[in-house]
Amino acid sequence: MEIGFIGVGNMGTPMSANLASAGHTVTGFDLAPFNAQGVSTAASASEAAADKQVVITMLPSGEALTNVYKEIIPAAAAGTCLIDCSTVDVESARKAHEAAEAAGLLSLDAPVSGGVVGAENGTLTFMAGGSDAAFAIAEPLFEIMGQKAVHCGGAGAGQSAKICNNMILGISMIGVCEAFVLADKLGLDRQKMFDVVSTSSGYCWSINTYCPAPGIGPESPADNDYKAGFAAALMLKDLRLSQQAAESTDAATPLGAHATQLYESFVEEGGGEKDFSAMLPHLMALARAEQDG
Ligand code: NAD
Repeated sequence: MEIGFIGVGNMGTPMSANLASAGHTVTGFDLAPFNAQGVSTAASASEAAADKQVVITMLPSGEALTNVYKEIIPAAAAGTCLIDCSTVDVESARKAHEAAEAAGLLSLDAPVSGGVVGAENGTLTFMAGGSDAAFAIAEPLFEIMGQKAVHCGGAGAGQSAKICNNMILGISMIGVCEAFVLADKLGLDRQKMFDVVSTSSGYCWSINTYCPAPGIGPESPADNDYKAGFAAALMLKDLRLSQQAAESTDAATPLGAHATQLYESFVEEGGGEKDFSAMLPHLMALARAEQDG
């Protein structure tokens, strides 16, 4: 396929390179210089989108997506399938679909889970929203860049699934960190706590696979001084998107709201670049009287 790829950053670089190494012809564009193996460079977003069967975007925000779509939609040939893999707010995703449809283009919102390592290894999970026809075009590309793709429903359904998942992740990571804080204060050995919880009803990905306590459980960022696998700033971004969606739909998400506040104060204190599991040392340093601050 002839593929345009716009937003060739941390995620877009390995994703576009994987498409190129699978034999597709990939033309990239980014505001910053990039180096993705096998991917040629266009002079503009509209040039990257012209005469392509598929145009993939991997951008930082809904605003960037709206700006890029304004430029590429008039440039794309009728029938082109636009696949947005960025994590953005549900409203921007739905507006992007509307703009594409009005111009006779197919579109999907298809955010990913799996991070930079998943992008490099081609093991991302894609959660897609849009028509069956668009999903059918995108699916073989998802198979190259990832290991699983779920067609979640119509326009915006992929972004909806992504923020629901990451709201659970933010809450569950804080829950696990709180349990380690309490276990420490009670004089309970961390390894024993892990041995019990990871095989009891408290088990979850945040403790079993990604344990925030160094030296406990499988290797995780905690064992590498909390060097980011998934940065706290990105967790905060996703939690904020979940709260924006909860406000616009009148959904009660009290723990989601509190998790957002906790990651906000963590990031404000300079933790944004660290892995989101560094919430454990952050909570360890707080006194109980400070927990709501
Ligand atoms: P990044 O900042 O490394 O890459 C985004 C790229 O978009 C940058 O290179 C930037 O120059 C480019 N860009 C911005 N505006 C542009 C425009 N108008 N035209 C062309 N290029 C433009 O970010 P990333 O880590 O690659 O993340 C991309 C998206 O994937 C985000 O929405 C993020 O939330 C999501 N995501 C990231 C991860 C992760 O672990 N990094 C995991 C899952 C999802």
